[in-house]
Amino acid sequence: MLLRMSTLFLRTLRDDPADAEVPSHRLLARGGYIRRAAPGGFTWLPLGFRVFRNVERVVREEMDAMGAQEVHFPALLPREPYEATGRWTEYGPNLFRLQDRRGNDFLLGPTHEEMFTLLVKDLYSSYKDLPLSLYQIQTKFRDEARPRAGLIRGREFTMKDSYSFDVDDAGLDRSYAAHRDAYIRIFDRLGLDYVIVSAMSGAMGGSRSEEFLHPTVIGEDTFVRSPGGYAANAEAVVTVVPASIPFDGLPEAHVEDTPDTPTIDTLVAVAQQLFPDQGYTAASTLKNVVVTLVHPDGTREPLVIGIPGDREVDAKRLEAQVAPAEVEPFTEFDKHPALVKGYIGPQVLGSENESKIRYLVDPRVAPGSRWITGANAPGKHVFDLVAGRDFTWDGVVEAAEVLAGDPAPDGSGPLELARGVEIGHIFQLGRKYAEALDLKVLDENGKLVTVTMGSYGVGVSRAVAAIAESNHDELGLIWPREVAPADVHVVATGKDPAIFEAAEALAAELVAAGLTVLYDDRPKVSPGVKFKDAELLGMPTIVTVGRGLADGVLELRDRATDAREDVPVADAAARVLAAVRGQVAPTPA
Ligand code: ATP
Ligand code: MG
Repeated sequence: MLLRMSTLFLRTLRDDPADAEVPSHRLLARGGYIRRAAPGGFTWLPLGFRVFRNVERVVREEMDAMGAQEVHFPALLPREPYEATGRWTEYGPNLFRLQDRRGNDFLLGPTHEEMFTLLVKDLYSSYKDLPLSLYQIQTKFRDEARPRAGLIRGREFTMKDSYSFDVDDAGLDRSYAAHRDAYIRIFDRLGLDYVIVSAMSGAMGGSRSEEFLHPTVIGEDTFVRSPGGYAANAEAVVTVVPASIPFDGLPEAHVEDTPDTPTIDTLVAVAQQLFPDQGYTAASTLKNVVVTLVHPDGTREPLVIGIPGDREVDAKRLEAQVAPAEVEPFTEFDKHPALVKGYIGPQVLGSENESKIRYLVDPRVAPGSRWITGANAPGKHVFDLVAGRDFTWDGVVEAAEVLAGDPAPDGSGPLELARGVEIGHIFQLGRKYAEALDLKVLDENGKLVTVTMGSYGVGVSRAVAAIAESNHDELGLIWPREVAPADVHVVATGKDPAIFEAAEALAAELVAAGLTVLYDDRPKVSPGVKFKDAELLGMPTIVTVGRGLADGVLELRDRATDAREDVPVADAAARVLAAVRGQVAPTPA
C-alpha cells in the first residue's frame, strides 16, 4: 500500500488545538489523525483510521484465538430489555434515550449485556451448548458527565465487548481466566503498559472484577500497589478496620466552646490549647461532610459522611459506593435546620433521629473510638464522643481518600499510589442478567439451571490515545510497529528529479515487498517542513532521499532512538525490510 502525501487527505497543524488538554489529543489532532466532530465525538482521518484498524485487528485476532466468536449488534436498542434489568433507570443521565416516530422508547447502547443474554436465550437451551463466548467491536454511547482528553473519554467511542456463558461457577472461572490471558496478549502486542488491579463490582452487580490500567499521569483512576503484590483501584481499597474498644473507663463526652473553628486546622489548634496533654491531631477529629445524592429517578437525598479529619472524601470512592446514585455538592442548609454548617455532629444524624438524615461513617469510626466533632451549635464542639456509645450510624462507607503509606488490606505492606487510565475490564457478572432475563438451560440431569455470565471490555479508541500518550516526544508521535499507520516514511527532499525517481523506486520496491509506505512526494514543500511532518506523524522508520543521493546514499532513521545511518541506495530496501520485520512481534498461531 502506497500513501502519497501529495494526495493524502491530511493537513498537519503547526499549533496545538485550543481544546486539547493532554499530549495524545494534541498530537493526534496536530498530526491529522482525528478531528473533533461533536463534544466527545471524533472523526477518524485516513492515517488515524489506519491506526484504529490496527488496534482493532490485534484485539480481533486475540479474541478469535481464545475461541470467542464475533457478532455485531445494532447500537439503537429497544427499552424493554434494559427495563427488565433495571438499567433503563439505573444508568441515569449517562444513557442516551430517544423515541421513534410512534413514541416508542429506544436507547443508544452504552454496553450490551441485555442483548447478548437475550440472543443466547433465543438460540440455546442445553448445557451441551456451553461454554460460549461472544464478542463485538462496536460503537458505544454514554452521555459522560465530563468528556475529556480527546479519545480517552468520549461520548461516542469504540469498545470490544465480550460476554461468556457457562453452566456453573467453575466454568465461569475458566472463561474469565481465558479472557484475562487474551487481554494480557492484546496489551503486550499493542506495547501498552498495564497493571492488573482489583476493581469494584459497582453498578453492574457480580463478583470478581479486575481492571487493566495503563499507568499515566493523565489517568483519572488512582490505583494502589504494595510491596507484597497487592494492586487495586483506589475505589476498591478496603480500609483496615481498627479493633473495637470496650466503653468501660472511657471519659464522658463534654461540650467545649471553640469559637471560630470552622475548619479542621483551626479546631485542632484550639483543641491542643484546651487539652495540651492529649496529643490531639487532625486524626482525632470526626469531620461530617454533607453531600446530595441524586438517585436515578431524580430524587435528591442529603447524606452525611463521617470521616477522620485528616482525610478528605474521595469523590470517586464515594461515587463507586453510592452508584447508581450520583453525588452533587450540598447547598440546601436552609431546608435542613439540623445541619449547622461547620459544626455538624453525629448526635442529630441518622435515620433513627428526628432529622432522618442518613449517616454513613468511615470504617475507622469503630465502636469505642473517641472523637472531637461538631456539637450542632455554632462555635461549639464535643470532645470524647464515643462511637457506639454516644452516637450511631446507618452504615459504614469506604469514601475517605486512600493515602500513601496506608496499610494494604491483605497485610502485604504500605500502599503506594499512582494514576492510570482504564484500558480493559474483566468482570464476573454471575447470574444477575440471566436471572433478570430468564436465561436458563437444561443441565445433565434435565433440570433447568440459570446460566452464569462474564462481561469483558477493551476500549479500542481509548487504546489508540493511550498508545499515543506513552509513545511520543516533544517532536511528535512515535508509533509502535504493530499499530503504525505505515511501516516506513519515505521523504524526498529538494528539487532534483533524480531524487524523486529514486524515492519513487524505493517506495515501489517496499510496497511490492508487502509494506505500507507513506511517501512524501510533495514537490514544492521545503525539506524543513517535510522533516517536521515526519517527526510529528511518527512512522517508526524514516528514509530520506536527498542530497546524499549524489554520493549514492540514503539516510535511514529510527524515529524512536533517533539513530541515523547512511546506506547505499542498492541496500536501502533490504535494510528497511530488516528493520520492519526484525521488530514486528510474531503473531501467535
Ligand atoms: P471509566 O471508569 O474510565 O469510565 P468504565 O468502567 O465506565 O470506564 P467499562 O464499562 O468497564 O468502562 O467499559 C469497558 C472499557 O471501555 C473501559 O475499560 C474503557 O477502556 C472503555 N471506555 C469506557 N468508557 C469510555 C469512554 N467514555 N470513552 C472511551 N472509552 C471508554
Ligand atoms: Mg470499567
